[in-house]
Amino acid sequence: MADSLALLAVLVALLVGLAAGKAWERYKLREGSWIDRRKARESPHYILGLNFLVSNQLDLAIEELTTAAGIDPDALEIHLILGNLYREKGQVTRAIQMHQQLLRRPRLTKLEHAYVLLCLALDFRRAGFVDRALEAFTEVLRFDTDNHYALLNLEKLHEEQHQWEEAYAIRQRLAALAPEEQRQHHQAILAFLETQLGLQALERQDERTAASRFESAVDLDARALPAYVRLGDLQHRAGHAADAVATWERLIAKAPERAYLVFSRIEAVSRELGDAERFPALCRRLIASNPVDWRARLALGRHLAAVGRPSDALDLLFDSLVHNPHAMAIHQVVWRALAAVQFDADRVQRYMELTREAVFYLDPHVCIRCRYRSTELLWQCPQCHEWNTFIEERIASAEDGEEEDDDNDAG
Ligand SMILES: [Zn+2]
Repeated sequence: MADSLALLAVLVALLVGLAAGKAWERYKLREGSWIDRRKARESPHYILGLNFLVSNQLDLAIEELTTAAGIDPDALEIHLILGNLYREKGQVTRAIQMHQQLLRRPRLTKLEHAYVLLCLALDFRRAGFVDRALEAFTEVLRFDTDNHYALLNLEKLHEEQHQWEEAYAIRQRLAALAPEEQRQHHQAILAFLETQLGLQALERQDERTAASRFESAVDLDARALPAYVRLGDLQHRAGHAADAVATWERLIAKAPERAYLVFSRIEAVSRELGDAERFPALCRRLIASNPVDWRARLALGRHLAAVGRPSDALDLLFDSLVHNPHAMAIHQVVWRALAAVQFDADRVQRYMELTREAVFYLDPHVCIRCRYRSTELLWQCPQCHEWNTFIEERIASAEDGEEEDDDNDAG
């Protein structure tokens, strides 16, 4: 989906750019007679082709645009689009050939050259020719210095190869080109890249560089959460346990909804510091400020169960279950705590009442066409009106969770 949107963006940019650039070249001489160059663009095949393209019917779009291209073999944009369509269909070799042929045309304007190169670079990227893609995107920038699309693709290519320095430099260029209101977004990405540079420094045991990278990440974006986590780890390892806890608490101050990322760290290190009350107090503060925070309840419940207070733990865990009955993590702690109170009948009764109504135990069915959910088997989908599309939904087990997503190749 993201791919086809990106494709559309390129196509629209192309059409606007080329239509403007070519306006004065409307007529040209071919075989002794003047030909109206708009013909191809005004032919019903061209319009139909674009309509099919927008409705994502690629085969029909190719058919109509091929006919339109036949009317004016010189119409650059139609051939460009055709090449792009072949790429989207997975016929990358054909796309590369088409775009390379366009590149050999004499008298391409600078802008046209940049666009053809951009399409070719996308072909290379799709085909997995990383070096040729890098080279082509870089070449695009020679013709069109601030080409946003080429910069974004270059950044992604570098990221895929863990070349974080290069990715960082490109994101800085994008940030410099962006309007003020998008600044925060770019800062956030720079902070993620800064964090990656820190992790890379850690891999080569350069803890000083790593720490300063994590610190800059936090300076770039106060919500650079992974940077706080890692910075705290480094401080702890360097023997500054109190600083570490303070760093993790800064994360919580910035993003209380993500506090659970550092729960186990704060719990362990504050115990090390001899401050056993710090962690439960933190959890209670979080629960008070956000009454639906099921993770803080779970963490406090687990903590209380571990210090020999299973009964208090169960109260919290049951509250936690009310807010997220699907969380297996809660059920597991509940079972342990129930065992610790010798399956006290009242407690077990309460647990059964709480979970009886939970969606978790209903019978979930999902439409394979539009993902509409229903708690019973339906023969016609109320959302997409297709017949017989419901299958029983099962949540994958943790080990099956890593299944490859083939969406990108299916298009
Ligand atoms: Zn449906």
